[in-house]
Amino acid sequence: MYPELLSIGMNTCIHCGSFGFRSSLLCFHCEEALFRTAFNRLEFFTEVKCVPCLSLFRWQRDRNRILNRLSLALKGQQQQRAWKYYAERFLEEWLKSEFPGVSAVLVPCPAINGVKDHSYWFAESLSKLTGIPMRTALRRVDVKEQKRLTRRERQSSIETKFVLSESASEKFSHVYFVDDIITTGTTIQAAQFHLKKLGHVKAISLIIRE
Ligand SMILES: [Zn+2]
Repeated sequence: MYPELLSIGMNTCIHCGSFGFRSSLLCFHCEEALFRTAFNRLEFFTEVKCVPCLSLFRWQRDRNRILNRLSLALKGQQQQRAWKYYAERFLEEWLKSEFPGVSAVLVPCPAINGVKDHSYWFAESLSKLTGIPMRTALRRVDVKEQKRLTRRERQSSIETKFVLSESASEKFSHVYFVDDIITTGTTIQAAQFHLKKLGHVKAISLIIRE
């Protein structure tokens, strides 16, 4: 009919464009290549800015084009199903190395406008798979609020990037801060600054960047 219509939508591999599309957003071959080249088996646990981090993939600069595409494709609000797939793969590795804390909680990195986005879907999938509760305990400080802060307060961006929600008063053994990618670690530092009031903070990410 209209061949161009066939390629519209999300039904092709995000890397090679083939129609053998799976819940990973990739075809079988690209999925296999991703796990072969970027899988983080040996360094699933790392420490970034003194926060223990658990990550499924390691992103080495310019060395993994599939992971480049995937990280972009997984952003936003539409990829709930794909996050469920990656949460399952993450959990397989997680359970090999530690049993999640006795009274743990999962806290997604909050989206800029408070919508349910990639970090929310990742945390929610992990919560459903493990039974660990999820709390949206952090809120982003918006631009207007930032403007009201004094210059000195603004400069210490670690403290002012997030605030703890008013309702977050429960205590937990472990607080897992969930985000899609860990890069410089300033976001997890900012999260830890607030979340340590609730329990021992660790970070969970799909990807860690070198
Ligand atoms: Zn492919």
